[in-house]
Amino acid sequence: MAEVLIYVDHVDGAVRKPTLELLTLARRLGEPVAVHLGPGAQEAAKVLGEYGATRVLAADAPEFADYLVVPKVAALKAAYDAVSPAAVLVPSSGEGKEIAARLAVRLESGLITDAVDVEPGEDGPVATQSVFAAAYTTRSRITRGTPVITVKPNSAAPEAASAAGTVEELEVSFDDAARGTKVTSRTERESTGRPELTEAAIVVSGGRGVNGAENFPVIEALADSLGAAVGASRAAVDAGWYPHSNQVGQTGKSVSPQLYIAAGISGAIQHRAGMQTSKTIVAVNKDSEAPIFDLVDYGVVGDLFNVLPQLTEEVKTRKG
Ligand SMILES: Cc1cc2nc3c(=O)[nH]c(=O)nc-3n(C[C@H](O)[C@H](O)[C@H](O)COP(=O)(O)OP(=O)(O)OC[C@H]3O[C@@H](n4cnc5c(N)ncnc54)[C@H](O)[C@@H]3O)c2cc1C
Repeated sequence: MAEVLIYVDHVDGAVRKPTLELLTLARRLGEPVAVHLGPGAQEAAKVLGEYGATRVLAADAPEFADYLVVPKVAALKAAYDAVSPAAVLVPSSGEGKEIAARLAVRLESGLITDAVDVEPGEDGPVATQSVFAAAYTTRSRITRGTPVITVKPNSAAPEAASAAGTVEELEVSFDDAARGTKVTSRTERESTGRPELTEAAIVVSGGRGVNGAENFPVIEALADSLGAAVGASRAAVDAGWYPHSNQVGQTGKSVSPQLYIAAGISGAIQHRAGMQTSKTIVAVNKDSEAPIFDLVDYGVVGDLFNVLPQLTEEVKTRKG
């Protein structure tokens, strides 16, 4: 059976959920072989094996942390040379897309980014993308070289499927180009304890209707009851009520959670562009004519300051 390379996104061996989703999708195409770069390969291999990785090619070197992106491309290329896979799947993060693009150039292969599904096809994998603010769905196939595909978080539900997950050392050497951009300092962001916006299974977002930074705890309380990430419209962010890093939309982050709750957000096209592929969309808006209601699965016409606290309480009660 053909092998499929999976680039592992992890923090010191703690594998992030998008990688488990990739393993689940990869099993449709062949036998997943995971590429783990940096520390924690043994720990990661247990999880990667549980989700179907037959082998885990592991390399650790200071270059992965000290220089941006290119050393990781060199390692993924070394894994490619060792395996000759039928396809390479990479999580669609900013870094993932850069790694995938650089690898595709090295392989002289075609590249598809931000896929929301990948299926086997007669002439190779077929990837689905949601484009033009999700107004169109396209299906594409790579016609040149080995397909390199990045897949958006939350595109598949991770399904366990036990495999060996045998760790094998990957030999990697770095040329001068790999050391082209050095990291000069690192400052850790204060943790909110909430999931990463682009990876979260549930996102609760607030807009201009929240009417001030002092009211955002209403959004945060609902998010915390659901274990969700907090998003915001550009209007809320531009008003200084919430950090820019939480903006959802065309000029913010693109999210595709299982559940997206928009509170006090009108549903402008630029906001929709960043959340329209969410599986279930719920809106709370006091204007029954708000365009967001054209998009939703469930809509509540009401004042968010009345609806959200009740919803939060109900979630807490049901969770016991
Ligand atoms: C080039 C460009 C890029 C852009 N990029 C983005 C982007 O990335 N993300 C983004 O979000 N926007 C973006 N915008 C801005 C976008 O066009 C809208 O202006 C913005 O999304 C509006 O934010 P909003 O829905 O929070 O505010 P509004 O459109 O003002 O809507 C507020 C809503 O809250 C409702 N409301 C008010 N009070 C309450 C209450 N108490 N309870 C319930 N509902 C209430 C109102 O009925 C209204 O529907 C971009 C615009 C441009 C031109």
